[in-house]
Amino acid sequence: MKEDIIVFGTHPDDVELCCSGTLIKLAKKGYKIVVVDLTRGEKGTRGTVQEREKESKIALDIMGLDFRENLKIPDTSIETNEDNRNKVINVIRKYRAEVIFLPHWDDIHPDHAAASKLIADASFYSGLEKIKTDYKPFKPLYNLFYIGRRKDIDATFVVDITDEYTLKMKAIRAYNSQFPDDKNKDLKEKLDSPFSIENLEARDRFYGSIVGVEFGEPFLIKNPFKTSDPIKVLFS
Ligand SMILES: [Zn+2]
Repeated sequence: MKEDIIVFGTHPDDVELCCSGTLIKLAKKGYKIVVVDLTRGEKGTRGTVQEREKESKIALDIMGLDFRENLKIPDTSIETNEDNRNKVINVIRKYRAEVIFLPHWDDIHPDHAAASKLIADASFYSGLEKIKTDYKPFKPLYNLFYIGRRKDIDATFVVDITDEYTLKMKAIRAYNSQFPDDKNKDLKEKLDSPFSIENLEARDRFYGSIVGVEFGEPFLIKNPFKTSDPIKVLFS
């Protein structure tokens, strides 16, 4: 199996919140994308594992993507130990994508920061022959870090997602257990989400404004990438 991009999320809905506009855009261009959630979000205050699983499938459909799998690492215990690392290495080797999307290493949520380290380490070790898993060694070329709700991180680049914004919101709204609609007013009023739809929109507008578009999603690359044509990179 060969995919172009593996997008890792810590909990079901993280991918939709942080970078689904970009995923919708890339899927439309024909890139093969697989979403891999590390946990089932079982320690979350809202929603059950079953609800979140159902919602994540609906959201995947809305984004126009084909595959999603869950590594079932225990929520809130995302340590970089051998067992967890081998689960991530195995899935990297299974899909053999050159590009990996992962959370920023300094995310406010400790699970997201822990996931970032676990995935980045696995991406490195995945190329080592002496680490045995179900699939042959494979080392991805690039790790692209997406940014959560922080607005004080300088992005390497911002993807213009203005045309994809309506669909992005629809994918997020698929998680009714996390973002209840007006029909569920009591629950809605009880919740005080730090990553509410309003805060998310402010983030996307903020990063969009930096590059002169209505909505944007920020990404970071930790290590320099090689190119023989820097002008093409700037205008692609
Ligand atoms: Zn999360």
